[in-house]
This record gives sequence, structure tokens and C-alpha cells, in this order.
Amino acid sequence: MPRKPIDVLLVPGHSVKSPGAVNQGIHEAYLWRALGRWLVGQCRAEGVVTRIDYRREEDGNAEERNLALVDRIRKMGPLILVDLHDNAGGYPGSTAIARPGDDRSRHACEVLAATCAAAQGNRLLRVKDNRSTDGVPRAWNKFVVIDDIYIPTGSELYLVSERTQPTIPVILEPFDGSVPADYALGIAAWKSGKAGAAVAKALSGLVEQFRA
Ligand SMILES: [Zn+2]
Repeated sequence: MPRKPIDVLLVPGHSVKSPGAVNQGIHEAYLWRALGRWLVGQCRAEGVVTRIDYRREEDGNAEERNLALVDRIRKMGPLILVDLHDNAGGYPGSTAIARPGDDRSRHACEVLAATCAAAQGNRLLRVKDNRSTDGVPRAWNKFVVIDDIYIPTGSELYLVSERTQPTIPVILEPFDGSVPADYALGIAAWKSGKAGAAVAKALSGLVEQFRA
């Protein structure tokens, strides 16, 4: 029997060697590995076919790591990819980053960032296009992936599992890991399960919309 297609793939940001934002002794990479574990259960409880990928490539240069990560995700072929981060930008609030020119990615970002802001009691800071080319999550901007051909463009990413069904990438940053008050709000909402439950419900709605 063929396996059910993956609705949502959760990818906790960063890695053991490069843990991302650090605040009050907590590292972004470890935080999202822990919170992601709860979120995957909450998504499944909503009937969403969900997987979480804890691996984050450690070997090689940034481009090699990005290629390996994108290749792995392409093979899994999720409908929606959610890359989990703290925004760490010194601006309290919820942020999501969309693939430029992709209406579905933009819509998913708007829904998920607003959901996080409401559940956490922080503000909706911004939803923006992924124009930067530095840093790990910006991997989504670096390549056009069509079947087995990789075309680095420096500005756009098309992550395509089939020609007709591109994966919808979202970089979700529900709170700012560098602002203690915002960080505390975010952590409290996720630890209580409230934020994860709201995000799971929102993802379930998005999957229904996008699969239709
Ligand atoms: Zn990050």
C-alpha cells in the first residue's frame, strides 16, 4: 500500500553545532526540537499527516548543507514545510517568512503568524518575503529544485516534489528569542500547549484548503 502523502513537515531550525539564538541558557535548536515534538502530536490529533525531521546537516559548507537538506525534503514531498525558529531580531512579536511570489506560501504565513500572535498574546510583527540569502533558513531562497535538477538562483526557491505540486515553505518565528518579555510569552504559550494547539488547528485548515 502506498504511504499517505505528508501534509506537513516540521523542521526545527538550526543544529547541534550551530544552535541559533541563545537566551537564558536555552538554545533555539534545542528549544524547537522539544516544542516540535509536542506540535507534531497536536497536528496528528487534528488529523494532519505530519512528520518532523530533527536532522539538520552538519557537514560541508553552507551550500552543500542546503543542498542535502533540500534534497531530503524534496524526497519526502510534504504539502507544507514549516521551518521553526525564534526571530531573534530584537523586535518582539510573531514573524513568518514566505517564498517570494508564492501566494500560497504568503497566505500560510499570514495565517500562522496571526495564529501565533493571538495564542501567545504578543503582536503580529510582520509577514515578509524571504529575500535574504544568508543564514540557514534562507536555504529556501537559494535553489530552484525541479525533479533532480538544482539551479542556484540566489533569489528564489522552488521546492518541487512533482511538477504540479510544489511544497509550500513557511519560516515560522512565533516570538523573539532575544527580547526577554516576548520570549517569556512565547515559551509560556508553547509549554501550556495553547500555541501548539492553535497552530495545529490552523495547519489543518490550510491543508484542507491547499489539498482542495
Ligand atoms: Zn533561527
